[in-house]
Amino acid sequence: MQQINNPYSDLKILCHPDKIKAILQEERTSPLYVRIKPTNVCNQKCWYCVYANDSVIDNRNVDRRESIPWAKMKEIINDLSEMGTKAITFSGGGEPLCYPYIYDALDMVQKHGMDYAMISNGQGLEDRVISVLKSAKWVRISFDSTDRELYKKTRGVDTFSKVVDNIKQFAIEKDKSCVLGVNFVVTKNNYKEIYDMCDLLASIGVNNIKFSPLMVKGTNSDYHMEIKAEVEEQLAKAVEKFQSDTFCIIDKYTNDESLEKNFVKSKRCHIKEVFTVIGADCKVYYCHQRAYTRTGEIGDLTNQSFKELWFSEQTTKKFREMKPQRECNFRCAFEERNQLLESLVNMDRKHINFI
Ligand code: SF4
Repeated sequence: MQQINNPYSDLKILCHPDKIKAILQEERTSPLYVRIKPTNVCNQKCWYCVYANDSVIDNRNVDRRESIPWAKMKEIINDLSEMGTKAITFSGGGEPLCYPYIYDALDMVQKHGMDYAMISNGQGLEDRVISVLKSAKWVRISFDSTDRELYKKTRGVDTFSKVVDNIKQFAIEKDKSCVLGVNFVVTKNNYKEIYDMCDLLASIGVNNIKFSPLMVKGTNSDYHMEIKAEVEEQLAKAVEKFQSDTFCIIDKYTNDESLEKNFVKSKRCHIKEVFTVIGADCKVYYCHQRAYTRTGEIGDLTNQSFKELWFSEQTTKKFREMKPQRECNFRCAFEERNQLLESLVNMDRKHINFI
């Protein structure tokens, strides 16, 4: 059952009939939504970071010094605007607020009238960048401890109080329409803090918190087996106490299929037609889970524009030949969306009027 007002709903694609029509007719169109990883530089050192450690996906190759040159970033944003892309999220790779041109990039996206959002650790969420980020559709802070010492141990920096202050300040300054969320990755170290975290965030003006499991390569279900019951108990307690019209708890943990040993994998990836990722290495990837992997690469923007790459024959050929069951050796974050679209594609269209 989908939650009311769930910003993570799998059904959002149904609001884009033109894209659905293109998928049904196997036509290539511009991506609706793009994630840009402007830089791989980060001001924190989280032990579970999927880009800093090879703990989830094999053969990820991240050069921690890389950033998209400003001239290329401008070209990408102009291209996406011309192509009709509706939304851009700036995320990691590294920490997007470490990108020296982040204010200018956000400002440019805003001036082009596209929706924009950011996933950040919140450490640099201050001063000038707030003036443009306050009008984002959403800002999500990766934040996973209510305890200064644990925060330091997890992230390698002693900035717990600074991040709490930044979140508080942003909650005050942001537009009412900008949704401020927190992403809490549940690990064996922090699962006892779920209730306290909801208490803290609800009191400082955060709009939602999403709980999801730490992904551990090959052994996800084993890793979570011993904490799952208590995580679910804490989540239930937190929902009962803190869920309200102004604070939403999004549970992506309880029914996460990656916690099952035999999760389902779609035959086709339809999401790649509407969503893509651009890395700080100026390469385009199928999705964030396959970012910075050789097999996840669609192409390189160093000597061509995004538009040229996206509609090239080579990209179309790659898309036609891509097989998730062979290439995506982990639980896909878009699995439900792919399954939904696969059901639509496979539907008997002769009987659609007999609703
Ligand atoms: S992980 Fe999912 S979204 Fe990414 S390419 Fe594979 S099937 Fe597509």
